[in-house]
Amino acid sequence: MKMIDPHVHMTSRTTDDYAAMAAAGISALVEPAFWLGQPRTTAGSFVDYFNSLLGWERFRASQFGIRHFCTIGLNPKEANNPKLSGEVIDLLPRYLAKDGVVAVGEIGFDDQTDEEAGWFGRQLELAREFNLPVLVHTPHRDKKQGTIRSLELIRSMKFPEEQVLIDHNNEETLPIVLNTGCWAGHSIYPNTKMDEHRMAALVKKYGTGRMIVNSAADWGISDPLKVPKTTDAMRALGISEEAIHQVVWENPVAFFSQSGRFEVADLAEPPVIDRSLLYEANSVLRGERRSL
Ligand SMILES: [Zn+2]
Repeated sequence: MKMIDPHVHMTSRTTDDYAAMAAAGISALVEPAFWLGQPRTTAGSFVDYFNSLLGWERFRASQFGIRHFCTIGLNPKEANNPKLSGEVIDLLPRYLAKDGVVAVGEIGFDDQTDEEAGWFGRQLELAREFNLPVLVHTPHRDKKQGTIRSLELIRSMKFPEEQVLIDHNNEETLPIVLNTGCWAGHSIYPNTKMDEHRMAALVKKYGTGRMIVNSAADWGISDPLKVPKTTDAMRALGISEEAIHQVVWENPVAFFSQSGRFEVADLAEPPVIDRSLLYEANSVLRGERRSL
């Protein structure tokens, strides 16, 4: 079955991960801009990071037959840095205009500070201006409260709910999100939050409408094969192939297609793998010579 991983931080992953994802059936992915594990100290670090999401990382994915898209935004954690946040927000318009950027994100709440709320709202305005959907991170601590606050902010700004993906849901927050017009993302982790069996049970209970599954794999303990593993868990629970296809393909396509830059026709055919290609004189090959 063909699958999309609609939230995975490939910058932190290896070529082995790309090869395994492609072999497991993942043919497209979305890489949201996020924080890198330690705070950045200059806005220039964001420039280089955003450029790599649109450049080198997209090239690297193509070398394994995977289409790569990204979301661009000021992540909630670094929204608390008063020295940088304004500067980073000023950078965003130039990126939000680019092909390959399929949403504003990850935005939302981390510690649920006033600064985070302010930049979350400002980025909803930018999304409206660029007619892009938004990817909303929900916090690890006080998740329920953070989810409710996010939904209240979205509603108070009259941002179209069908253009909002609320991510990292669990059993407690999912019914709250499904009660709105927003889409519900679930990050399937090895140890915490949601696992593939709990996820399959949620699909069985709530159906497939607006349900999205991702690995959110990054530099922490995580697994870039969690979308295929959730597919297996859904199958084991007797969920139909059609329903599984909706969760791991049609739903992310429908959500990100709202950007006008996530073309189904392009997705149907994987990129041709040509390892003689270079990106700014660089290749994924080591030692083995191109075209020999
Ligand atoms: Zn993430």
